[in-house]
Amino acid sequence: MHKKLLILFLALGSQTAFSQTTVIRNPEIAQMVAAISSDSLEHHVRSLASFTSRHTLNTNAKDGMPAAQQYVLSKFNSFAKQSGGRMTAKIEQFTIPGDKRRIVEDSPGANVLATLKGTNPEDDRIFIVSGHMDSRNKDVMDAEGSAPGANDDGSGTAAVIELARVMASHEFSATILFVAFTGEEQGLKGATYMADKAKAEGWNLAAVLNNDIMGNSSSSETLIKDNLKLRVFSESIPIAETEQEANIRRYINAENDSKSRQLARYIKELGERYVDQLEVKLIYRSDRFLRGGDQTAFARNAFTAVRMSEMNENFLHQHENVRVEDGVQYGDLPEFMDFEYLRKVSAVNLASLASLANSPDQPKDVRIDVRGLSNKSTLLWKAPEIGKVAGYYVLMRETSEAMWERKFWTTETTLTLPYSKDNYFFAVQAVSESGAESLPVFPTPLSR
Ligand SMILES: [Zn+2]
Repeated sequence: MHKKLLILFLALGSQTAFSQTTVIRNPEIAQMVAAISSDSLEHHVRSLASFTSRHTLNTNAKDGMPAAQQYVLSKFNSFAKQSGGRMTAKIEQFTIPGDKRRIVEDSPGANVLATLKGTNPEDDRIFIVSGHMDSRNKDVMDAEGSAPGANDDGSGTAAVIELARVMASHEFSATILFVAFTGEEQGLKGATYMADKAKAEGWNLAAVLNNDIMGNSSSSETLIKDNLKLRVFSESIPIAETEQEANIRRYINAENDSKSRQLARYIKELGERYVDQLEVKLIYRSDRFLRGGDQTAFARNAFTAVRMSEMNENFLHQHENVRVEDGVQYGDLPEFMDFEYLRKVSAVNLASLASLANSPDQPKDVRIDVRGLSNKSTLLWKAPEIGKVAGYYVLMRETSEAMWERKFWTTETTLTLPYSKDNYFFAVQAVSESGAESLPVFPTPLSR
């Protein structure tokens, strides 16, 4: 009897162990992912860290922030030559308003950005991949003292530079902005400038992938060494939610389905599809305790934005003065980074961004029919106006699941499934002929 039970147990166990996942990779995206080089990333991190300080208020043109900005600009300009005139780069100067806190009085600030113009003139979407250039030491107001900022956020800035290099020679339907922000440590100043501008000028800003502290793989205190996991932070209830949106959200129970959460799931799916030996962890928070990031400047303006960060942080090497104390080296130095890990995390960005920028726009007016009691679910939507659509995926998951579990393919703009709308969540994404999926849209209720 016991033996029989054991055999049954083993049989069930092996069934689970051998369940298959089919991985289909777009060859062009796979080629771009393979082109990301840990050597280039390391070179950029070391170059950025070699400037004495990249503090936002540093003005040393030879050895400080202005010199570092020229470095990033020169990289963007050299990649632009491979783009057939589609990539342009600039340093965007602006005034950071004084706040009597970390910016005492009005001060000059500058973001460095490269624009890779989309090839479809009807596609006005913009996707941003970003990191912040500015660094700090223990005293956030010290604009002169050494602040190498190798990982915070030399890592994110290096990733942005490397993506610009690899993507410049490839074509995308939508426009991609590669941005090295300033003023993050002083209160998200550069990102706030761009997010406010995007809102005021009505940009069709479809998503922001922000990268901050993503090149270290070993933790302080707990001494975990693991370069197999990446965190993606996304807000649960949107910070910019209106009262009307809140009412709909409560009615359809979309607390786990903000636009930024859909982007986070998308990054997990695409990242794990293209990057081996890396698991993407969804973190249901907009950021960590006591810390912030540039994605929040965009979220405040109701844009879709997430933050990518390493899984295991080392607090001896963040916001610390470079020094040895009791035999322990403090400071944000390149020697504590893991460039193979940074390569994988950069590749997750690339795979997600490349797919998004060649996807059709999201389906419009996505609704779920809630007008009657039924054990089926009917979704209906309209075709997007941008991009050629081959068909749609209707996504489904149990209400307690983190990730979408099933994708139903259709070429129609409505689908009825024999699963109760009370027991599952659904979303719809548009798919291009080359298989690039749009961000999924969580439906609003069709109630009369
Ligand atoms: Zn940072």
